[in-house]
Amino acid sequence: MMPERPIVRIAIDGQPLLELDAEEYVKGCLAAEMPASWHEEALKVQSDTIRSYGLAKMAERGFVYADTRDQVFDPPKRTARTDAIVEATRGIVGLYKGRIAATFYHAACGGHTLDDWADYLRIAECPCGKPQNGHGRGMCQYGAKALAEQGKTWREILDYYYKDIEWVGNYGEETMTKTSAHIQRIEPWMQQALVDLGSNWVKFVNPPAGPDPMPRIPNKIVRIHTDKIDDQFVPRGEQGGRDFVRHMLPQWRERPWATCYSLANEPDCNSNGGLANLCAYSLGATREADANGIKVVILDLPEGNPGDNETGDIGVSAWKLQQLAPAVREAVALGHYVGLHAYWRPGVEGPLGRWHALGRIEWDVEIWRQLGIDISKLKLLVTEWGVDGGIAPEKPGHAPKTGWLTLCDPTTYFREIAEGEQRARQLPWLKSLLLFDWGPESEWVSFGHDEGAVRNIVRAIDPLGPAEPPPTDGPTDDEIRNLSWNYVGVAYNPTHAFPTYARAHDLGAPLSGTFDHKGVRIQAFMGAIVKCVLAPVSDNTDWRNTTHIKW
Ligand SMILES: [Zn+2]
Repeated sequence: MMPERPIVRIAIDGQPLLELDAEEYVKGCLAAEMPASWHEEALKVQSDTIRSYGLAKMAERGFVYADTRDQVFDPPKRTARTDAIVEATRGIVGLYKGRIAATFYHAACGGHTLDDWADYLRIAECPCGKPQNGHGRGMCQYGAKALAEQGKTWREILDYYYKDIEWVGNYGEETMTKTSAHIQRIEPWMQQALVDLGSNWVKFVNPPAGPDPMPRIPNKIVRIHTDKIDDQFVPRGEQGGRDFVRHMLPQWRERPWATCYSLANEPDCNSNGGLANLCAYSLGATREADANGIKVVILDLPEGNPGDNETGDIGVSAWKLQQLAPAVREAVALGHYVGLHAYWRPGVEGPLGRWHALGRIEWDVEIWRQLGIDISKLKLLVTEWGVDGGIAPEKPGHAPKTGWLTLCDPTTYFREIAEGEQRARQLPWLKSLLLFDWGPESEWVSFGHDEGAVRNIVRAIDPLGPAEPPPTDGPTDDEIRNLSWNYVGVAYNPTHAFPTYARAHDLGAPLSGTFDHKGVRIQAFMGAIVKCVLAPVSDNTDWRNTTHIKW
């Protein structure tokens, strides 16, 4: 969908609030906050942190200061180069637990950064080589410069200073469309179509080496075709996984803009031996990737199980997924991705179907959850998604493997994609559904999604409206009940648990305005942040100067 561009209100001393388009605001800050001559990747990092920080402050208090109380806004410093950097990163923000994060940054940390202001900050050993200048939290500007000069990408630099933050396009909260593209051949219309769709991910097969082909889509999977060599690696287990990563590194390094890289595609997972090899191979690959500072997508299992159609038997899935659980557990712990394929079969099951489609993926994840894997940290990608054209009967006048065009009419197909999208938005661990495929290679020619088809998909998904951010973790109802209110402070409470408590205690509607409880004024703000103070508050209470208490 077409996101509405957010507005930023800027407080300049002695002037009325200045209202500006968010990108104009970022442009006005970038050259003031970082020299325009610095490395492009460092400037991208700065651009994304300015945007996130500014929009987080807007959500928190409705305006930003134009000076170092927030970030310096000085439009006369703008240059063509800094404007171009902002354009290339337009709309990209960092989300922490579904909300835009205040991505603190500073000039120089003095050697290591601090993590005590927010859960998404890291203690990073920093190569800035400068005495401390600033608060030392989040991105260190001189450190980012040094890392960029060492060849790190904007994403690697951001991950160096922040953790558990998801970098997404289209201002994050405005659109979080999960439907996206598995692209075999990049065509010029595709990036804009993905922006219009609101997609944050895209998968490329054999993309050209060199610069980022779609800078406005923040997350990319790169798969280099390895079908002919996978048998040299997967059967050799852990060592095979390590060797695979070492073998692929030169090609992956030529595409450094990828978020993550695919391992073997649709490996053997139908025998105990195959599963044991695949588990060990995946472990070896994730460990080797980790040692090289990159992320991979493990598994990429084919959809469905042999013989499980309509048997109602979850046993086959459990047998498989149990044996792969050690690899999944480690991938989750190290922040790598898990890939699974899913297709629906007209006449057999729809996009939410339990055998080969999204319902099946939910089933798989439920098994992993029962095996003790931390699903709240799982990052799952449906790396192939769509109608299973492979089962299409040959029809007169159609080539073999004629795909969705012969299996269901386009109207049904677009509606079903929207149905899958709607369900996917309920699944916080599911990051993207990558429609197979766009810009097709010859064998799969009739699967192709051309520009017209993709416009229809945008139209089908648009009525769903902006996706709600997923519910975030927070205190339990019990913790809230036992909370002592005998402090002066501000309690951040981005949770649905608080409204439950507030309803139970007849506190009115906690997600709007202010209300009193036992002499405590509680202010709910932007539907997310609850502020509590003991002292009476007035419209002039300066909330910024109250003590912050983390749950
Ligand atoms: Zn530093």
